[in-house]
Amino acid sequence: MKAQAMTAFGAPLEPMDLTPQKPGPGEALLRVSRAGLCHSDLHIHDGYFDFGDIRQPVAIDMPAVLGHEIEGEVAELGEGVSAPAAGTRVAVYPWLGCNACDTCRAGDQQLCIALPRRALGVAKWGGMAEYVHVPFADALIPIGDLAPGLGALAMCSGLTAYSALKKIGTPPPEQPILLLGMGGVGLMAMALAKSVLPNPIIAADIDASKREAALSYGAVEAIEPTPEAWKAIASKRGGAAAAIDFVGAPATFGFGTAALRRGGKYIIVGLFGGKASLPLASLPLRPISIVGSYVGRLDEARELIALMRQGAIPAPPMHERPLDQANSAIDDLRAGKVLGRVVLKP
Ligand SMILES: [Zn+2]
Ligand SMILES: [Zn+2]
Repeated sequence: MKAQAMTAFGAPLEPMDLTPQKPGPGEALLRVSRAGLCHSDLHIHDGYFDFGDIRQPVAIDMPAVLGHEIEGEVAELGEGVSAPAAGTRVAVYPWLGCNACDTCRAGDQQLCIALPRRALGVAKWGGMAEYVHVPFADALIPIGDLAPGLGALAMCSGLTAYSALKKIGTPPPEQPILLLGMGGVGLMAMALAKSVLPNPIIAADIDASKREAALSYGAVEAIEPTPEAWKAIASKRGGAAAAIDFVGAPATFGFGTAALRRGGKYIIVGLFGGKASLPLASLPLRPISIVGSYVGRLDEARELIALMRQGAIPAPPMHERPLDQANSAIDDLRAGKVLGRVVLKP
């Protein structure tokens, strides 16, 4: 199969002819039709995540195939698997664990730490290829007639946004929710928020075109992330019951935690990196909580696809490019030139 493979961290991807693994019992093979390009692909391509004082290295065997937002048609099923039938359009839940440990049995495959790692496009070959081997056929989620690319996006940016929104819980419906950073995941959260929460949603971004996009997706206000801009909002609506940080940088953390009302919840999703400090006494005294959210669960992925198939959610901006333009797509994403999502087509 043709693939755009990574042979060394930081080096351009190379066209390669690879042989996909045959599906064994319980497994499946997927013919890829779309693979979304995500910021996490850039971090994996760099070879590390920025943890502030240290760089957390990425452990991956070369050649590697990136792409964890995968959509396609079932090509072949392994022994003991009868559904979804060959030819069915599916999205693939890529955040696979061992499927055997306590964490996986509780439904949190995305948090599994068993080795070898199994996440597709992260540890195992992913979607920047003609085929993907899927180690558990359970991970295939039929998408019906969803617009091409939407199922792929649902599995990372969509799922990440959905799982973070669900962590907000049920604050009083008049209290505002703040979404910080209107990149691919932030805009997806904006599009999903109305289906998950009754609260008014306020977007913050430094880029005027992204604020504009947030308004068109249902934000009641879209502001620059400055204390003055927030003060104007807070004087009429009160502090935020929750904020989701889709950037994860010291600046967004400082702005966003200050915007919370007493008892508010700060949910960090973005992997921009760096370090932040805060007065420890503010945790009990305000009293706020700070939690992280990492992609989402398989059952949440199924819920999300069901919501999308009901047509409740508009498609975010998608830009299709042929798979062999993966390198220029990566360069554009790195340069911040992408509004919404680039979707590669083998
Ligand atoms: Zn991703
Ligand atoms: Zn596990």
